[in-house]
Amino acid sequence: MTDAEPESLEELHDPSSEGLEGYNYAYLDEHTKREVRRATLKAISIPGHQVPYASRAMPLARGWGTGGIQASLSLLGPDDVFKVIDQGSDASVNAANIRRLAETTADIETTTDTTAASVIQTRHRIPEEVLTDDQILVLQVPVTDALRRVDGSDDRNRTRHAHADYSKMWVALYESVVQWGEVDIGARYPVMVEGRYLMDPSPIPRWDVPKLHDADNLFVFAAGREARIYAIPPHTDVEPLAFEDRSFRVEHFDEEACDACGSTDTFLTEVEGEDGERRFACNDTSFCEKRQRNSDCAKDDHLERSDIAWGPGTGIDPNGFVGDGGEDI
Ligand SMILES: [Zn+2]
Repeated sequence: MTDAEPESLEELHDPSSEGLEGYNYAYLDEHTKREVRRATLKAISIPGHQVPYASRAMPLARGWGTGGIQASLSLLGPDDVFKVIDQGSDASVNAANIRRLAETTADIETTTDTTAASVIQTRHRIPEEVLTDDQILVLQVPVTDALRRVDGSDDRNRTRHAHADYSKMWVALYESVVQWGEVDIGARYPVMVEGRYLMDPSPIPRWDVPKLHDADNLFVFAAGREARIYAIPPHTDVEPLAFEDRSFRVEHFDEEACDACGSTDTFLTEVEGEDGERRFACNDTSFCEKRQRNSDCAKDDHLERSDIAWGPGTGIDPNGFVGDGGEDI
């Protein structure tokens, strides 16, 4: 602690001032990055399969996105533009700190604009705006195995994955239908990837689950604590588990609209204002800001095509998913 104190906060936060002297490019050593990339390539080759990797200690506690950071820092190069969101927000402390770590160690540009980013790290959400084949979405994963809902033994669950034996999960879903009249799962809705592996999509709301299907972009799921990486490559079949007479449904927002931008086709969260009144607001804050500037801004405005299926309320519905998100714009 003999170093001089920074004179101002700007100096402390300015990525161009000093960088992290003595650290390797993108913080991790080359061997670790190679290890993570190798696991990621294997994960892409076997969609939905959990690939173990040597998860390193990171400068924050496990459970705060250490897997996502390792995946992002291994993928980032000097030409990348990096965006980090936490529950849909670019401004949360955790997102800001991860962004700054990448800025200072990998010397990259960062952004809050989903359409401008080449790598996006996220916790608990998939952005509302349609991602392209130039983009990678890195999801932070707290629990890797969907089967852990029905059996706590990873040993037995690995055998089930090897045999594609998901009967115990189907029985649990059936029991849920008997008890509640529908499948009673909110976030972490189990999905079948390419008809082979049952996968936990991390705690994204059901609203985001249809976005995993036949997407243009690559999804990388990384768990630091459990040291597992799995992936969904572009244009992969991803189907939420459901019964013929109990179809998968996304969250329903009745007639609600975002209080700030008026959106009816985005994932809304209920927030309490200073006056104590409860309002609905877009969870994806950067898209909400775009909508506030231009209420006609569609989720695929940045693309030339307009017939892309991307979650609820974007138009086409290739799998017959039920989207209650409102009208097309
Ligand atoms: Zn909004």
